[in-house]
Amino acid sequence: LVKVSAELETPDAGIDLGWEEVSWDPFSFKRQSSERIEVQGIGLGGEETVRVFTTQAKWDAVAHKLEQLGDFQPEIVVETSGVLAIDPRDEVAIATINESADPKLVTVSDGLDLPVIAAFRLLASRLDPRHPILLKDVLIPSADPQTDFLDTLLRASANLGSLICDGIGDAVLIQGEQAPGQSLRLAYNVLQASGARIFKTDYVACPSCGRTLFNLQTTTQRIRAATGHLKGVRIAVMGCIVNGPGEMADADFGYVGGAPGKINLYVGKEPVKFNIPEGEAVERLVDLIKEHGRWFEAPARIAAETTA
Ligand code: SF4
Repeated sequence: LVKVSAELETPDAGIDLGWEEVSWDPFSFKRQSSERIEVQGIGLGGEETVRVFTTQAKWDAVAHKLEQLGDFQPEIVVETSGVLAIDPRDEVAIATINESADPKLVTVSDGLDLPVIAAFRLLASRLDPRHPILLKDVLIPSADPQTDFLDTLLRASANLGSLICDGIGDAVLIQGEQAPGQSLRLAYNVLQASGARIFKTDYVACPSCGRTLFNLQTTTQRIRAATGHLKGVRIAVMGCIVNGPGEMADADFGYVGGAPGKINLYVGKEPVKFNIPEGEAVERLVDLIKEHGRWFEAPARIAAETTA
């Protein structure tokens, strides 16, 4: 995928993207296989999880309250990480890095006249895959503290999410959001949503439609309140049994509308409890999670937040 994407950057590439020409399997995912390195004492690349970078200024701003950040910890400071920032069109720079005996952490330089996704795809296509890549949400760091956060969130999600789903990236850096805590939460949430790094309960909810058999929003909120501390557990909330089970992806447990006012519960893709009255279905879901050994009590801090 990255190879073809990169070649498309060249107008004269003359690539025919007819289906029979596609050389990759669009139904499988494989992360680019970089080599593991250590940066500031933290493993990065290889089998390591995708790391979260921050700037020195943001690190300094949160250093006194790291405990309050909970799961949203900054891990590596970009300025002292030794990352090599290059223009992916610079063949000399690419060749120099590819010739190096040791794996290098590489990223795209700020301020380039390239879209973020194209720039990183091009970098990934030209770089020897053993070199880990640091992704950025934007190539021009925000200088405006009044930037609409929704725009920042959508841009970061589209850019980082697309690249991570391509299998590109060993670390991420949010540059579009100035607020230190907000930028860290955004980084972790993009990683969670793209399945790259699960640090909290993962929910898959259907968009709802005319077939939905319960109030999807309020029900999902109740399920989140009961299970939001179950790090790594995937729960699907589906409005009906017509299409819901097929849309649950690889959820561990499913809460699915079976009939008006009745809920069916699933373990994986297998229905195990039927026609539970809606009023008690969240409790039964919790029981099911306990039966399968995936339950633990919420830490005091989270429990207090949930009941506040
Ligand atoms: S799972 Fe059922 S209720 Fe939800 S969007 Fe699909 S068809 Fe509609």
